[in-house]
Amino acid sequence: MFESLQDRLGNAFQKFKGQKQLTEDNVKEGLREVRLALLEADVNFKVVKQFVDQVKERALGEEVMKGLDPSQQIVKVVNDELVELLGGEQQGVDVKARPLKLMMVGLQGSGKTTSSGKLALYLRKNHGKKPYLVPADVYRPAAIDQLTTLARQLDVPVYPSTTDMNPVDICKDALVKAEEQGCDLVLFDTAGRLHIDEKLMDELENIKKECSPQEILFVADAMTGQDAVTVAEAFNEKLDISGVVLTKMDGDARGGAALSIKSVTGKSVKFVGVGEKLSELELFHPDRIASRILGMGDMMTLIEKAQSEIDEDEAKAMAEKMAKAEFDFEDFRSHMRKIKKLGSMEGLLKMIPGMGNIMKQMGQDALPEDEMKRTEAIISSMTMKERRQPKLINQSRKERIAKGSGVKVADVNALIKNFNQMSKVMQAMMGGGKSKKQKGLMN
Ligand code: GDP
Repeated sequence: MFESLQDRLGNAFQKFKGQKQLTEDNVKEGLREVRLALLEADVNFKVVKQFVDQVKERALGEEVMKGLDPSQQIVKVVNDELVELLGGEQQGVDVKARPLKLMMVGLQGSGKTTSSGKLALYLRKNHGKKPYLVPADVYRPAAIDQLTTLARQLDVPVYPSTTDMNPVDICKDALVKAEEQGCDLVLFDTAGRLHIDEKLMDELENIKKECSPQEILFVADAMTGQDAVTVAEAFNEKLDISGVVLTKMDGDARGGAALSIKSVTGKSVKFVGVGEKLSELELFHPDRIASRILGMGDMMTLIEKAQSEIDEDEAKAMAEKMAKAEFDFEDFRSHMRKIKKLGSMEGLLKMIPGMGNIMKQMGQDALPEDEMKRTEAIISSMTMKERRQPKLINQSRKERIAKGSGVKVADVNALIKNFNQMSKVMQAMMGGGKSKKQKGLMN
């Protein structure tokens, strides 16, 4: 997901390298590339136009960011605008209501049933909810069976729907049964069709009227791009949805749905499905996704993933360092080692800021595991002092490090260069002042 967009945007930003300042001309040229990158990612063309206009206005506007060169400034502006485009603040589900009633809607095959199971698990695990699952798709017997099987897997009660029942009656009666069983979270898995269908919409409206769910979550398959956005619009018009669950984000969707849905419908993506397993559901964090798109990693998600593996205090300290941009080679290496414990997957690697670029420069063919070993070898050949104060690393030290780690001096240079760049951008993102240490990093 987002890989080709990430590449294209990277190329667009290259245009700003070596420029002294942002001007009408170079911004226009660079943004032409950004525009193409977004269109190629299947972002709605109106959304693209608005996005590019906004970036242009801000890039040429009065805010000049100290300490950033033009290419970094443009990355910062694009990042901020991407966060907005993705929905700004992270939007979850207000879990206070008892019972909390969630109505899942969407086309057939979008991932409604799977997401119902995932949300039951997520809200039980993270918010102590007691879920009750309601199969309300009586048109396909397989749909009832599927949710019933998921309920069994999760050890959660399920309403005994049959195909001769009326979906509105099922949902109403399910509320009574859920209460009897002491459940405070009711998930209605409604019917889907292959296309939008008036009769179905009327049925969904009736369920909404009779059961007053606090949330109507539209489930969309990210792989369907702009189609997902069009369907979301139709569902929203009729049902006034409260948010979106974007599924199959683990696939190779280009990102158009994630990037357009908020602008077009006014409703935020709240959760994303990142795999077929019931545990593979995540909250949607616009800022983290923007960082991922810009190839700056997603340390927060990584830290959360790591928290189950490593000491919590350690993880917290790591996050604080990131925020203050006091992040040096020693931290970088210790991160890499921890990530190994999580199993070295390419996806995880890309969450380390700068790692995406480093991997790219070291060659496309090599395995991520090998890259990681090589990067670790280079950092391990540095002295502790060098790791803590990378600006000490002069030519003769670089030669020594290269020899020690069995790589070329150019590889050492590439690592340092990427690391410095990533530090600068990261600091700009975090918006903090320069710490003493950070000054030392930039030479
Ligand atoms: P429904 O018809 O809307 O209820 O869709 P289902 O829940 O039956 O999902 C359709 C297919 O998509 C199933 O094979 C699911 O396993 C798969 N699926 C759902 N969510 C995800 C996801 O986040 N990632 C992946 N890779 N597959 C998913």
